Amino acid sequence: MSAANQLYQDVILDHNRKPRNFGKLAAASHQAEGLNPLCGDHIWVYLRLKDAQVDAIGFDGQSCAICKASASMMTHAVKGKSVTAAEELAQEFRDMALGRLDPESAEHHLGRLKVFAGVRDLPTRVKCAILPWHTLHAALNAVAQASTEGEDDPVPGSGVEQPGHA
Ligand code: ZN
Repeated sequence: MSAANQLYQDVILDHNRKPRNFGKLAAASHQAEGLNPLCGDHIWVYLRLKDAQVDAIGFDGQSCAICKASASMMTHAVKGKSVTAAEELAQEFRDMALGRLDPESAEHHLGRLKVFAGVRDLPTRVKCAILPWHTLHAALNAVAQASTEGEDDPVPGSGVEQPGHA
């Protein structure tokens, strides 16, 4: 196993064992529900925005290990950031997961989130990793629900066939 893969495995395990900011946020000002029918991930992201900053953030729901680790790291990464910086990070994460941003060469703010770069080679897991960020984006924009299927799918043309459409 490569060093990058080992780090990825360690991070996923760590965040599943001890998810950060897990649980419904008291007095959330914004929230959104995220669905990934492909895998069955179903999460909620809660935000408390104050002065255009992410004052507090939490998540809960049922999801696979990749989605949960991504959500956990996301909450840690955007807490205390401005809404603009959080949106920028969400865009960078989605670009990285889709292979549009090379974390080794491009300018970005991803930091430890770089461990998710490998999902770009795993089409069935891309949506799992992206779902929390997609849901964060929805919550920031006061959209009640985000889905990785349908019109707001952040992964157009991913080549992942839906059951029954193959
Ligand atoms: Zn999943």
